[in-house]
Amino acid sequence: MRVLTVIGNRPQFIKAAAVSRRLREAHDEVLVHTGQHHDDELARVFVEELEIPPPERELEIHSGTNTSQTQRMLAALEPLLDEEQPDVVLVYGDTNSTLAGGLVAAQAGVPVAHVEAGMRSFDRSMPEELNRVLTDHLSDVLLCSSQTAVDNLAAERIAGRVELVGDVMVDVARLAAPRARERTETLERFGVTPGSYALVTAHRAGNVDDPERLRALVDVLLALPLPSVLPLHPRTRARLETAGLLGALEAQPDLQLAPPLGYLDFTALLLNARAVLTDSGGVQKEAYVAGVPCVTLRPSTEWVETVEAGWNTLVDLDPAAALAALGRKPPGEHPELYGDGRAGERVVAALNQRLE
Ligand code: UDP
Repeated sequence: MRVLTVIGNRPQFIKAAAVSRRLREAHDEVLVHTGQHHDDELARVFVEELEIPPPERELEIHSGTNTSQTQRMLAALEPLLDEEQPDVVLVYGDTNSTLAGGLVAAQAGVPVAHVEAGMRSFDRSMPEELNRVLTDHLSDVLLCSSQTAVDNLAAERIAGRVELVGDVMVDVARLAAPRARERTETLERFGVTPGSYALVTAHRAGNVDDPERLRALVDVLLALPLPSVLPLHPRTRARLETAGLLGALEAQPDLQLAPPLGYLDFTALLLNARAVLTDSGGVQKEAYVAGVPCVTLRPSTEWVETVEAGWNTLVDLDPAAALAALGRKPPGEHPELYGDGRAGERVVAALNQRLE
């Protein structure tokens, strides 16, 4: 079987780490990196750290609006698909690369397998939500992280075959945890001690592209009552610089800004944090798996189980709500919501089955 996998941004490199090597034990894989994230610190670092096979094809498509990016990806992927003649196209998550890979394959009559299918925030103003819905509806094999995702797809009367496989990011997080725990030097570098600080990330378009929302985000960050580490996504750094708000964050002594971190450094900080504040989808899930309370800087989430279980609180950009959430005691119960760390195996098995 020949699988063409399309990835393009940071979390997709991480997700591919759970699948690509395993897939290559028995099949051919052509890994295509669209270039959506082109900074080494958001892409290349993961190839080395997580031993992902280096992409066979690089399209170097980045910047521009979502529509223009997707359009350029479609144009580049169509001839590539024709050249490579895959039996199936594999896509992950909810980015422009996901939608472009899925649509080109579906139009060419090549089956599409979507990992992390069925996630819904029910907020159609998020570009990610549009990509999720559209990709699911053109996929043949829908591989879900959670029962909620399976139920969402049933409610939409999806045409493809739906399977609950668990979450591939959980595979990677579990595998990396022992190595990350050993990295005490990461905490020393930031001058923080286990259980005494918050790890913060923010980069969603809805939070950083609108100047008013960006200002509100800065207000939340300046109000944090404990030492905090914030690895700054390049998009966020750029927006803060343009808005003249970076200085206010740099001047806050309890807030340490850092460049985007490698996966193991980031995981070391996450595993030892007292709390995580984030607008990232993947980080909400990783915080849950690590048993670290999460405060989500969004009004909605697609990872609803973490909220229902009491480990995640949605505060949007309200400083008072964020402080209240940080003061809450985590629940005693911690059910296994996103699988047993063997999702990658099930993804490969599902692909085998599709093509039998
Ligand atoms: N991550 C990382 N370094 C960082 C910040 C995040 O390795 O400085 C990892 C994190 O562990 C998670 C993934 O990047 O696996 C989340 O990516 P991101 O927040 O960019 O995307 P989202 O999940 O919001 O789509």
